[in-house]
Amino acid sequence: MKAAVMRGAKEIRTEIVPDPVLEPHGVIIKVKACGICGSDLHVYKRDTQGTIFGHEFSGDVVAVGAKVTGITPGMRVTAVGFKPCGKCFWCAQGKGHRCSDMALLGYQFPGAMAEYVHVPFAVLGRTVFPLPAELSYEDAASVEPLSISYFSVNRAKPQPDEAIAVLGLGVIGLYAIQVLKTFNVAKIVASGRRESRLKAAQSCGADVVIDAAQQDAIDTVMAATAKMGVHTVMECAGMQATFDQAIAMTRGGGKVMLVGVYEQPLTWDPLPMISKNLSLIGCLGGNFPGAIELLRSGKVSAKHLITHRFPLDQAAEAFRAQLQDPGAIKVMFTMA
Ligand SMILES: [Zn+2]
Ligand SMILES: [Zn+2]
Repeated sequence: MKAAVMRGAKEIRTEIVPDPVLEPHGVIIKVKACGICGSDLHVYKRDTQGTIFGHEFSGDVVAVGAKVTGITPGMRVTAVGFKPCGKCFWCAQGKGHRCSDMALLGYQFPGAMAEYVHVPFAVLGRTVFPLPAELSYEDAASVEPLSISYFSVNRAKPQPDEAIAVLGLGVIGLYAIQVLKTFNVAKIVASGRRESRLKAAQSCGADVVIDAAQQDAIDTVMAATAKMGVHTVMECAGMQATFDQAIAMTRGGGKVMLVGVYEQPLTWDPLPMISKNLSLIGCLGGNFPGAIELLRSGKVSAKHLITHRFPLDQAAEAFRAQLQDPGAIKVMFTMA
């Protein structure tokens, strides 16, 4: 089969590789759509020979392992791909979905930027999710990033009378804005840099959009909240500057949700956090059923965040676009 394979730093080629082999607890999916994730780009910049990326995907089940129940060939699905270690505390109890040392699809074993992908731990409703008719394959390949935004916003427990800031307008931040809209929060302030993403923040429903390259984010938030600051910040950028802004713009008793992945350790002064009684809350998780329902009901839309589509044959171009094209939000592979 064809797959997009890493052959060095920022070098990716479409090659012929062996077809995946079906394992007893696995399913094989014919891939229909697969997004490039920000996490892929972190790895793409390094020399990672042989990696096949792709964990935001959808497709049709074509083969089902002997020990899998409830999943049948022909099902349209999206899935979470991981392989439990089989040795840890959770695995010993048969709770592989809680494994503390799982291998990840698209990193430690081949992902869905290929004609076929093997999901080694296939459990209906837990790792493999059938698609309602309303979801296109592209919607379904958007479920994974949306599931992260949904999980993180829920963790913040937003209230209707609150003002909430979203810092960092990648796909996770943009979906967070859409999810916050469903909670009817009073005011959403979004801060980012690229013009395409500032526009997207507006169409996702942000009430105030800050161009962080031109405006002072803290001053703008204070002006928009009668100098009180926001109740909660969703920190989706993962940078020192946005972390500092988050602490400064949150009002007393508020929450700073850490969603973005930090490439560098932080230096910070904890005093403002102590004196304001802030809560600093880490977010790592996803809610697939919740994300599927948001797309099915039309409360969240994936369409206007997908800016580029490429066939698998143009893997190099697709990654270049995601990394360099200022207009790129989500770049997706689509397969016939
Ligand atoms: Zn991702
Ligand atoms: Zn384990």
